[in-house]
Amino acid sequence: MIIVMASRKQEDVDFVVSKIEELGYNAHIIVGEKRTVIAAVGDERGKYRLQALEALPHVEQVFPILKPFKLVGREVKAESSMVECGPVKIGKGFFCVMAGPCAVESRDQIMETAAAVKEAGANMLRGGAYKPRTSPYSFQGMEEEGLRLLKEAGERYGLPVVTEVVTIEQVSVVMDYVDMLQIGARNMQNFGLLRAVGKTSTPVLLKRGMMSTINEFLMSAEYILSEGNPNVVMCERGIRTFETETRNTLDIQAVPVLKKYTHLPVIIDPSHASGHWDLVTPMARAAVAAGADGIIVEVHPRPAEAFSDGQQSLRPDKFKKMMEEITPLLNVMGMTIAR
Ligand code: PEP
Ligand code: MN
Repeated sequence: MIIVMASRKQEDVDFVVSKIEELGYNAHIIVGEKRTVIAAVGDERGKYRLQALEALPHVEQVFPILKPFKLVGREVKAESSMVECGPVKIGKGFFCVMAGPCAVESRDQIMETAAAVKEAGANMLRGGAYKPRTSPYSFQGMEEEGLRLLKEAGERYGLPVVTEVVTIEQVSVVMDYVDMLQIGARNMQNFGLLRAVGKTSTPVLLKRGMMSTINEFLMSAEYILSEGNPNVVMCERGIRTFETETRNTLDIQAVPVLKKYTHLPVIIDPSHASGHWDLVTPMARAAVAAGADGIIVEVHPRPAEAFSDGQQSLRPDKFKKMMEEITPLLNVMGMTIAR
């Protein structure tokens, strides 16, 4: 249920929150530009008991949330949200460019990549330390040493860092090193992991499962918000279709569809979507034109030597060219890159 407050005073909001909690529901306060609303979420069955709260002073209106997702939806919060990772802003007119290798492989590799992407205009550094590989015999990542190197590179070049967390146990370790936690496509419905990152206040990059519908994707984001972490960025990274020419099929329509339903920022991963370096720039252009709030792109100084995903990684010169190509489009779309 949505409880629209007639008052924005803290004591009035606290009073209504206490009434919601007495009924056994969780109260999430959403302070908008024009109004404060409280989303009461919990057991669907007795939700109509909340209707009686309309009689409370300072409550303007109580109405049900019709969509299956609640906190991520525009019913609860009509205006778009912005997620901040240090100085980097994502959403509400701010475009992010996260770039870096699929995996951190060595000190030299991550430093060289960080320097190059910074110079070309990226505002965040990506790099996997725990890799979710299809084969247990493939390179699994440098683990905590990889996190240390990623953090060091991010600090040296002034780039907030994002890395994937694969298991619940890793969350507390990874959080100490990074500015943003990534939930990979393979874990989009790992509900325990979603709840674990939801209990932190670290921004989360949630990638769409390769076989997940948009509704399932939104419900996964709901898990994170329901635990109290509102800082979620959604990432479309391609889905499996009958097409074999590309690694996945980029569902570019997911951008406007997601934006219709959710206030959360939406970004595109043209690297994993296409699986080929030469498709990355055209799909990055498409992302901007479709209204995405950012991109996450794999960049490697020597893609042929990459331990993972070399075929879809851009060389620094190609990444620079990509940035030059998207800059005029960003201007047309009224988007700014915050640093
Ligand atoms: C990645 O970003 O390196 C990755 C493994 O992505 P995805 O989870 O989208 O496959
Ligand atoms: Mn990768």
